[in-house]
Amino acid sequence: MASEAPVASGKTRAAFIRVACKDCGNKQILFSRAATHVPCNTCGSELATPTGGRVKLNGEILETLE
Ligand SMILES: [Zn+2]
Repeated sequence: MASEAPVASGKTRAAFIRVACKDCGNKQILFSRAATHVPCNTCGSELATPTGGRVKLNGEILETLE
């Protein structure tokens, strides 16, 4: 009779993040664990680089959305 405790290991949870492009300032939402390169929709500069885990960002994180 185990109680149903919610799993709360937030470290591995993926999230969407709002990032400002460092080149043009465009604000764009992308997935924090994207498996592909994410280009800026406005100037085409690379916003995120896949690393196998969380992406490496080339901009500033403005907000994390879950
Ligand atoms: Zn840009």
